[in-house]
Amino acid sequence: MQRRQIIKGLAASSLLLGAGGMSAPLWAKGDNNADVIVIGAGLAGLTSARYLKQQGYNVLVLEARERIGGRILTLNSHGVNAEAGGLQIGQGYGLMRTYAEQLGLPLVSLGNYAKQNTFVINGQRISADDWPAHEQNKLEDKNILPSSLYYAALAAGPKYTLPSDWTSAKYAPLDISLQAYFQKQNISPEALRLMDANLNALSLHDLSAADAFYRLSLARVGGRGAQKVAGGNSRFTQALADDIGDGIHRQKVVSHITEGANNVNVRCEDGSEYSAKRIVITTPFSALKDVIIQGDISASKRRAINEAVYTPVTQVHFAVKKQADVSMLAATNLWTDNSLGRVFSQVDDAGRLTYLTSWINGQQAKALDKLTVKEAVNIVKGALNTYYPGLKGKTDVVHHQSWGNERFSKGAYIQFAPGQVQALVPHMASVEGKLHFAGEHTEFMHSGMESAIVSGLRAAQELSDRL
Ligand SMILES: Cc1cc2nc3c(=O)[nH]c(=O)nc-3n(C[C@H](O)[C@H](O)[C@H](O)COP(=O)(O)OP(=O)(O)OC[C@H]3O[C@@H](n4cnc5c(N)ncnc54)[C@H](O)[C@@H]3O)c2cc1C
Repeated sequence: MQRRQIIKGLAASSLLLGAGGMSAPLWAKGDNNADVIVIGAGLAGLTSARYLKQQGYNVLVLEARERIGGRILTLNSHGVNAEAGGLQIGQGYGLMRTYAEQLGLPLVSLGNYAKQNTFVINGQRISADDWPAHEQNKLEDKNILPSSLYYAALAAGPKYTLPSDWTSAKYAPLDISLQAYFQKQNISPEALRLMDANLNALSLHDLSAADAFYRLSLARVGGRGAQKVAGGNSRFTQALADDIGDGIHRQKVVSHITEGANNVNVRCEDGSEYSAKRIVITTPFSALKDVIIQGDISASKRRAINEAVYTPVTQVHFAVKKQADVSMLAATNLWTDNSLGRVFSQVDDAGRLTYLTSWINGQQAKALDKLTVKEAVNIVKGALNTYYPGLKGKTDVVHHQSWGNERFSKGAYIQFAPGQVQALVPHMASVEGKLHFAGEHTEFMHSGMESAIVSGLRAAQELSDRL
């Protein structure tokens, strides 16, 4: 392991001290000094900070955005409380469910979604019933729906006993691209094209098969019976933040982290500086890559920070105008092979359409993310009007969310590229000197939000053992 490496750009900072670490802080002691600094006020950071505060430590949270919550983002408009980020609280999310109960937050069903699914393949709108005999169905097995192809293909492959098996030597041969893996299984080019259209990753080429089988094993333990927090998942992060109280500093974009002999100094873009005995870093590695870190960082960790890949996800939310007569619209969800991605349609108790979310993954999201917001929204809205008869002029665009373009996320969730499961996964969570790491990208026995919470607690415990 190569120690004491200095990340690029370090020399540019005149405030960083020379070998031997920090001497006296360059700012007055007081509010900017703490036992622990937590970077990021998403689920992992808030969980960590709350736990440490409850243990009696003096904790400061530095959050880049004006809002807290990170990749949890409830949109409070049109009476729907739609989620633009973390949505489903799986049945297996033991900690998140326990916390919700402690915080007095009831869980409810995800929403009243249309029961019917319609496909748009090569520009043609096709019902599920018509798919087996449709001219656009070029699959060998005519009875598999395009939306089921991916899981059907994975189900035929190996199954890990535990999700954490994915890094074992036994499964090292799976650390190749999913495209290459499926080609070895003689899966047809048309099936691969359709799988790629809405893949929850950049592309079949960019995703390790070992990662895909890992996510499948997680879905088996955490995925069924999903719910959300009544009123929206942002109430969960808000309740954690309320419990923490003072000490969460917003609009603090951390730009430098410098490890000294007895403390760690953190500097923000606005010039403010902070110091603590140890720090918990919860920012996605995609955003951490932009932070200059000086300290005991191993080469493997540095590689993980610099090379971690995050999946782009772009959404456009539409509310159906109240004045429109939508009762005649047959509500349906759409699964398309174009830049409309998937459309999730919500209905009211009378079965009338009220709200639609277009959810675009991978390469389609990447292409939209290169356009202006207006251009991207127009493309998605145009496709919605084309493939959802009767909607033209009846929707308002409520929100556009590009997680790929968000500076402090640069993607929706981590994915591992071919070779990275063996090379990066073992180093994602490692403690480096006085730097501890948490976040969904550091915990691999659970998924998504549960993972972020578990990792926040794990880092807090690791750290309190050393303080
Ligand atoms: C579209 C979408 C759908 C999802 N659906 C689900 C789902 O259904 N179920 C599920 O379990 N999970 C889901 N997830 C994943 C889940 O939301 C995340 O795993 C979880 O919220 C991540 O929490 P975190 O604390 O690890 O990271 P984050 O929430 O990203 O928190 C990191 C924080 O660090 C801050 N930060 C970044 N850079 C800096 C800096 N330089 N200085 C200071 N602060 C910084 C960020 O602003 C952010 O607040 C979804 C995510 C997305 C985007």
